[in-house]
This record gives sequence, structure tokens and C-alpha cells, in this order.
Amino acid sequence: MSALQPVRGTHDLLPEDMRRFREVADTARRAALCFGYHEVATPIFEFTEVFKRTLGDTSDVVTKEMYTFTDKGGETVTLRPEGTAGVARALISGGLAQHLPLKYFYVGPMFRYERPQKGRLRQFHQTGVELLGVKEPQGDVEVIAIGVEFLRRIGAWDRCELELNTLGDTPSRQAYRRVLIDYLNDFRDRLSKDSLDRLEKNPLRVLDSKDENDQRIVADAPLYSDYLSAEAQDFFGRVKSGLDDLGIAYRINPRLVRGLDYYCHTCFEITCADLGAQKTVLAGGRYDGLVGMMGGPETAGVGWASGVERCSMLLNETPAAARPIAIVPLGEAAERKAAQLAGELRRQDFLVDLGYSGNMGKRMKRANKIEAIVAVILGDDELAKGEVSLKLLDTGEQKNVRLTDLEAALAAYR
Ligand code: ATP
Ligand code: MG
Repeated sequence: MSALQPVRGTHDLLPEDMRRFREVADTARRAALCFGYHEVATPIFEFTEVFKRTLGDTSDVVTKEMYTFTDKGGETVTLRPEGTAGVARALISGGLAQHLPLKYFYVGPMFRYERPQKGRLRQFHQTGVELLGVKEPQGDVEVIAIGVEFLRRIGAWDRCELELNTLGDTPSRQAYRRVLIDYLNDFRDRLSKDSLDRLEKNPLRVLDSKDENDQRIVADAPLYSDYLSAEAQDFFGRVKSGLDDLGIAYRINPRLVRGLDYYCHTCFEITCADLGAQKTVLAGGRYDGLVGMMGGPETAGVGWASGVERCSMLLNETPAAARPIAIVPLGEAAERKAAQLAGELRRQDFLVDLGYSGNMGKRMKRANKIEAIVAVILGDDELAKGEVSLKLLDTGEQKNVRLTDLEAALAAYR
């Protein structure tokens, strides 16, 4: 450990990273806005109970990954590992259930104590949507369509695959649970410790095991789809036909179970093979039981979250920084005028860079280095005539402009 290194699994977003980050986050926000969603932000820490109760005792997140600490007042709080629990808490504490349906979008940092590797960080960021108070399958379809639209806009959708499954309703789960326990019981001596624990507490989660040996055992387990109630099948059928109507391709993956405990009916993941091992870029599902389980009014919910860092890796190019206008004063009077002029232009929302010192050569070099689009050169003689010189840095073309016409002459470079 060195105090001069970033904490393992965290990283700085320097300007280029930040531009990729913004591109992803702004595109997700824009896509959600187009569907009538509103942006919200919940605190980045909550009482630990909020996550413990909602994510369940067997989730990886609760058992291993939470950043939990006691604050100076003796409260146990946790840095949020995901966004849904906070939104559900806000619905309850804000009495928002009277305003359903709610259509929310968020973006922000999440924290999980995981083993850092490519695409897996301890502080990462998610964009997400939550649709609350809609129990119809049209809600699931809409939420998935937002995710697809977002990935289409960042140029990644044609390299992605949507995997879809259903976790059914309570009667289906109960029926399948018994069958699965019977099957897994025969492998007790070979299952991983985590899976044995889950077998006791929440057997469905064994299907989600990352242990290779477990995965081999699970591959031959009875299929949940054979135990779905007629209602659950109908619900799933309507989600699928809704996606078909929108031309959204998907692959049914009967082994797909989400890592978090509160899902029912639809669950989905969008993966991109380009990313290698951590290839899930967006994941979500329906969580009708969540708000009720937290102690609020029974409220249907469906949503997804997407990792901004993973999506950033899918961008085809880094968005360019906006190019500034460089002001280059020559002489003392000009220098004073330059500061004034920069102020005026900035008030008109031009991007203006003004160096701090140096002769013409040094300042022009800097203008080129920061990739200014044009330099406004202020000489004492020209200024006396009420003129400045504009130099286009890409072509070297140069012309004199009257100060009074400057704003109009620069309009093209705003
Ligand atoms: P995994 O199986 O990869 O651990 P998960 O089920 O824990 O995923 P979710 O909780 O569904 O993931 O999070 C949604 C998305 O957030 C993921 O698909 C991924 O894009 C991103 N994500 C999750 N954990 C991390 C992390 N530690 N670092 C970077 N991105 C992450
Ligand atoms: Mg995880």
C-alpha cells in the first residue's frame, strides 16, 4: 500500500477517459429521456439494512462485496453497490407510491469490494433505469428497448447480444425450488462451499454460480422453463412478442438468473463478446417484490443497470475535445485588452484560451498544442486601429477583422 497510489480497483478519469465517460452517460440519459424518463440521484451511501434486506443474504454483493463502515455516530452505513435499492428506499421514504408510475434514470458511482481486473473495479459507475408501478409486460419491453436504444446510439448494439429468461412467479418458483433441491442434493459432496450455502438459503442462486465445477453440475439440472405456471408463461410470451414487434433480437438463456435476489418474471443481460471475460454491459429484470419486502406498499418494478466503464470500452472512438479560440496578445496594452476580450467572448459562450505569459512564438506554439481552431492575434498597432488579426490554425490563413465585427467573424467557431 502506498498513499500515493489510487486505491486498488479505483481509477482517475482524466480528460480523455472523462470524455468517453460523458459520451456513454449522456447517451444513456438522452435515450431514457426520449422514453419519458426523468433523472434522479439518490445518496451514494445508505443504511446498510437497505442493501442487506433488498439484495438478500446469499448475493455475492452482500456476502462479500459491500463497503460497510460505522460512522462517527455509530450508524452502520454502506457505500451503495447498486442503484435499485436506493430508488426503492426513496419511493418509500418520499411517499412516492401515490405518483405511480414513476420512470427514473440515474447515473453515478457504485462500490463493490471485488477482485479488480479488466472491466471489474471497486469504484465503477452505472447508468440505469427503473420503471415503478407498471405490472404489465409492456413495461419490461419498454425498459429493454431503452437499453437497446442506448447501446445502438453508442454504436455497440450490432456487436451485442440480448439474453432473456424468466424467473417466473411465486408458484412457479416454489415448484421448481423443490425439484432443484432434489437434484442438487445428489451433488452435495461436489458443490462449492458458496453453492452449498445457497442450496440452504436460496437454491435458485446456485444456477448463478461462477465456480466451473458447479457450472458442470448445473448444466444438467432440470430446466426452470418446464415448471413455469401458465400465468408466468403467458407473461413471458408477451414480453417476447413485444420485443419481436420492435424487431429486437434476443436469445433465450434458460440458465440466466440474476445475481440479486429480488427478481421475478423477466430477467435479461446484454453481453458483448469483444469485452472478453467481463462481457455483460447491461443487466436487469423485474422486481415486483422489492418495495413490499422493504416494508413499503407492494409496487411492481422493472429496470436495468449498465456499467459505464465497460460501455466506454465499446465506443468506437474517443470523442474529441471542443477546440478553443486562442487569444494571443503582443505587447502590454494588448495583454490588458486580451483579458477583457476573453471575458466578453466567454460571456457569449465561446471557448477561449488565454495564455499567461510569453512572446508571440511561445503563445502560438501553445495555441497549436491545445488544438485551438483559430488564434485572435492582438498587436498594439492593430488595436490602435480597432482591428485584430485572425489566424486559422489548420490552414495558416490569416485576415484582419475590425473589433466590432469580431464576434460575427468567430461565430463559425463557437
Ligand atoms: P457480474 O456477474 O459481472 O459480477 P453482476 O451481476 O454483479 O455482474 P450487476 O449487479 O447486474 O452485475 O451490475 C450491472 C452492470 O454493472 C454489469 O453488467 C456491469 O456492466 C457493471 N458492473 C457490475 N460490477 C462491476 C464492477 N465491479 N466493475 C465494473 N462494472 C461493473
Ligand atoms: Mg458481481
